[in-house]
Parts: sequence; structure tokens; C-alpha cells
Amino acid sequence: MSDAGGRGYLAIPGPSVMPEEVLRAMHRAAPNIYEGALVEMTASILPDLQYVARTCGKVGIYIANGHGAWEASLANVIAPGDTVLVPATGRFAHGWAEMAQGLGAEVELIEFGRSAAFDAGRVEDALRADKEGRIKAVLATHVDTSTSIVNDIASLRAAMDAVGHPALLMADCIASMGCDRFEMDEWGVDVAVAASQKGLMVPPGLGFVFASEKAEEVRRGMERVSRYWDWQPRFDPEFYYQHFGGTAPTHHLYGLRASLDMIRAEGIESIWDRHERLARAIWAACAAWGQGGPLTMNVEDPAHRSRAVTALRIGLPHGPRLRRWVEENAGLTLGIGLGMSEKGDPSGGGFFRLGHMGHVNPQMIMGLLGGIETAFAALDIPHGRGALEAAARELAAV
Ligand SMILES: *Cc1c(COP(=O)(O)O)cnc(C)c1O
Repeated sequence: MSDAGGRGYLAIPGPSVMPEEVLRAMHRAAPNIYEGALVEMTASILPDLQYVARTCGKVGIYIANGHGAWEASLANVIAPGDTVLVPATGRFAHGWAEMAQGLGAEVELIEFGRSAAFDAGRVEDALRADKEGRIKAVLATHVDTSTSIVNDIASLRAAMDAVGHPALLMADCIASMGCDRFEMDEWGVDVAVAASQKGLMVPPGLGFVFASEKAEEVRRGMERVSRYWDWQPRFDPEFYYQHFGGTAPTHHLYGLRASLDMIRAEGIESIWDRHERLARAIWAACAAWGQGGPLTMNVEDPAHRSRAVTALRIGLPHGPRLRRWVEENAGLTLGIGLGMSEKGDPSGGGFFRLGHMGHVNPQMIMGLLGGIETAFAALDIPHGRGALEAAARELAAV
């Protein structure tokens, strides 16, 4: 018999843990989509999404996952033949770049590897070299969920301004929104994309696109935009259905309303602080384990580590054994490594990730760390001592 009964913790970097409030809000009969409570509720959601993204810009909601939000953002401002500049620090930057390629864009990619944040200086050089102004947008991943690197988005804006380059600054905040500090307006971001299933604590299925005035201007200059992805009717709908290009994602909206209530009650800055404390506890434990065993954090510099996800390497055969053990014996699911090795390379199994985004608190993080510590003992995986104590000290130092 396994001990894995009881409430589990899905500690993968999305979908994240869903609050009871969100689940309860979704458990109801289908509402009228033409008038009444749902229509009124939708109007209340938009300003709260702006609050989370720290923007006065418009927000559009798509029935889509993050990949859909990627396509939605690009479809409004990138035409076939346009060039996008992509500083890449992991798999997700490549994913967004591939999406742009699919829409006919030329991609200029600057590779920064898998364990360091991007360097805005090199982006600045690329922009300076773009004498003909071919680059229409810079696609920046704020937190790359595969490597758990957090990038300095404001430094890109500074680089673009230093060159006086007119490209749009677009940020993928799918992993970071509601976890790592993100300031759309203050950082000069023109287009931000997010999705429901990470820091926003709602099931996968909603994609969000936020746009600055300048981005809206670029959209207006587009020769054509595919109808479904067009953000104009979603930003300024004449009829309710135009918010969503069709039937509303009714139950996701109820869930989202509940999660935004929770976010409002806690306050976005407090949420960032909580994620910071919880992440520091995880880092402290990982550092202690690493003192006496093969575990290493992918990102060495804490300044470049996300507060939402932590990518780790423990090597073979430990990685798969560890993940299987905690799943089967501790009610704990860890994320697989993503994009850390070439396709087909078995060493990829030596990587794994911890998701600590959204609805997480100190006892969950201590449970996560305790589950891993227990697996180390059960499986005889070498590790340094004092990890839980180090984590507890971080959490106690409020
Ligand atoms: C999860 C994630 C995506 C992809 O989202 P899907 O919902 O899986 O399509 C894209 N970018 C980042 C940074 C993510 O964390």
C-alpha cells in the first residue's frame, strides 16, 4: 500500500494548484451568455487583469492556451515578411519564435544558452545594426519555464530607447504573471501575453493579450489580421460575444473572477513578496542538498532565478527515480526537465523542475522539500544535510 493518499501537490510549472474558491466558482450550471450576471461579471474582470499586469493598456481574452496567446499577440502586429528579434534563454523563446515563423515572419534569434539571463547589450547591438528598420518587434520571454531564468525586461526597453529603435517590445509573461514582479507600463512593454493556468490559478484554457497604445497603433496599420485573433473587437466589443470571438468561456470566467478576487485581496505586491520568500526557501534547501550530492540549480545567480519555477539537475539514474518515488509514495508530482538536452538524449531524464506558482504557501513548500528529502533517504541519493532547516530559516525570516 502506498502512503500517497491525502491531498497531493502538483508541483509542476503549470497547470498550477487550483484554489478551492476557483473550483467551487466553476461548479455551476451554464449561464445565459446574452445578458445578465455573466455579462456584468466580465466587465469587472478586465480592470483586474490590468491590475495584475500593471498596465492601463487594453486586455483581450482568448479561449486558448499559452500557445494561442502567442499567436494572438503576433497576429495583430506581425505581417508576413516582418522580422522579429528573439533573445533566447530557453525552450519557450524558441516556441514563440517558431510561432512567428509560422505567420511568415523572419526570425533573428540571439542564443544566450540555458543557464544565463539575456544580455541587453547584445540586443542593443542587433538593433543598432538594423539600419533599415526591418525589426518590427523584440520577443522577450520574461520567465523561461524550461530553464527557470528570469530576464530583465526593463533593460531591453532601455536598450531599444538607447538606439531609438521603433520596434515593439513584446513580453511572454505566461509563467511570471502573478508570481514574479512584472510592470508592463513602467517597463515600457508594448504587448504582454499571459495564460490562465499558472500564477492566475485557473485551469488552462484562457489566453490574455495586453497591448499598449503604440501596439494598438501598429495593429491599425496592418493590412489584414486574421479575424479570430484580431484584438480590436475584443478590446472594444460592440456585442458581448465579440469579447471572445464567439461563445464566452463561461466557467473559466467564473474561476477567473474567483482567482482575481483572491489576488485583489492579497495584493499583487504581497503576492510577489510571498513568491520571493517561498523561492528563497527552495533555493536554500537546494543549495544545502548540493553540498553533498549531485543536485544543482540550473541558474547560478539568484538575481536571474524565477520565483515561480526552479529548474534542477540531478543526473541519471536519480532524476526519474526521484520523480517516480515522490509521485507513488508522497502524493507529490515534480515537473520533468524541458529543453535541457537535445531530443532523444537520455541524459534529459536527469533534469527536473519544481513549480511554485500561484496558490502555494510555506507548509506546501516545506512539504515539497520534505518529500524530496524523504525520497533521497529512501533511494540512497547522496545529498547534503540541513536542507529543511535552511528552508525553514528562510521562511521564518519574514
Ligand atoms: C506555459 C508557458 C507557455 C505555453 O503555454 P501553453 O498553455 O502550454 O500553451 C509559454 N510560455 C511560457 C513562459 C510558459 O510558461
